[in-house]
Amino acid sequence: TTPASVLGEGTRKVTLEDNSASNHLEVSISDISEGIGGCIGDTPLIRIKSLSEATGCEILGKAEFLNGAGNSPKDRVALSMIQMAEEEGLLTPHSGDAVYEGTVGSTGISSTFYPAPWILLKEMNSAHTPLIISCMPDDQATEKSDLLLKLGAKVERVRPASIVDQNQFVNKARSRAAEHTADPSRQGRGFFADQFENTANWRAHHSSTGPEIYRQCGGHLDAFVAGAGTGGTISGCALFLKPKLPNMKVVLADPQGSGLFNRIKYGVMFAPTEREGTRRRHQVDTIVEGIGINRVTANFEAAKELVDDAIRVNDEQAMAMARWLVEKDGIFVGSSSAVNCVAAVKVAMQLGAGNRIVTILCDSGTRHLSKFWARAGNVGGKADTKLEDVLNA
Ligand code: PMP
Repeated sequence: TTPASVLGEGTRKVTLEDNSASNHLEVSISDISEGIGGCIGDTPLIRIKSLSEATGCEILGKAEFLNGAGNSPKDRVALSMIQMAEEEGLLTPHSGDAVYEGTVGSTGISSTFYPAPWILLKEMNSAHTPLIISCMPDDQATEKSDLLLKLGAKVERVRPASIVDQNQFVNKARSRAAEHTADPSRQGRGFFADQFENTANWRAHHSSTGPEIYRQCGGHLDAFVAGAGTGGTISGCALFLKPKLPNMKVVLADPQGSGLFNRIKYGVMFAPTEREGTRRRHQVDTIVEGIGINRVTANFEAAKELVDDAIRVNDEQAMAMARWLVEKDGIFVGSSSAVNCVAAVKVAMQLGAGNRIVTILCDSGTRHLSKFWARAGNVGGKADTKLEDVLNA
């Protein structure tokens, strides 16, 4: 049979109704955002149809790649950290001030968002326009540092190193901020935003992402699945949702090489039998950017007792899932979102048909073209891929 339309079922049709009397289009005032600042939060919750049909569960993705100016959950976090710094007097309307942040991979993505919230703050009449300096490891997808530079940020790329190394990107950002403050010629302070340890991070998710998910689900969900880079998303959402839904499972989606999986499963970061343990302490060995860490940050610590289970996802599974989501659903995401979706499917299979699982679609594949998607290859218009092929990749 010939389909009625080339548009997929459920696609919203756009109709612009011409009000011929006044000869202009009728627009509801509530449809207008007060600048880009009005676009943070309230991201859509998307039913991922292919995964829902294949598992018999309802698998929903919180579309954070459509968030605000920065197109990721970090718009919420950046705004929260900066506002808190202002309230605590750590940042003042002073032209010599600067914000320093350590950002990796897709956490490197997060740094992309700092300039954007500054623009938002200016719209909100904040007086200062400080410099943003991002310290990031040099093995991350280059489109993220390119974007930072375009936005007017400064980028210091450092060799990937262990957290105990002074040249590690987070340590570098901390010491650069201190140098700034100590340098009288700068005539201002360096503020180290510290998204890993700054609890304004999880609080942003506790006050926005969690409540939005709860409302969008009408108060009914059976599992929440997310990876952890800083841990802010999983903690903030878990701390909001779990008291309301004590039976809801919180599951960590962890990429290969990350120590958090063992921490949740066995209570220790590194299983004694892990032969590459020393290497693991230095770097999480995965193509996935933004999630997976080998230490418990303050943001992960905040809710680690609420995490019921962890699922480890390998790089091949993540790439196969990323291709699947384009082929079947037209959803083009980055590596951490793909990891989340693999874990969401596994949770669906564990819980059985009829359950509702929410996960996070963190960012777009366009932030990952030169690394993750370069390895994942082009999408070939395949319709016959089976979900087992993705899980067995
Ligand atoms: N995905 C991407 C693309 C990210 O940049 C981050 C943040 N590093 C995450 C997931 C993880 O979020 P969180 O820091 O809240 O754990």
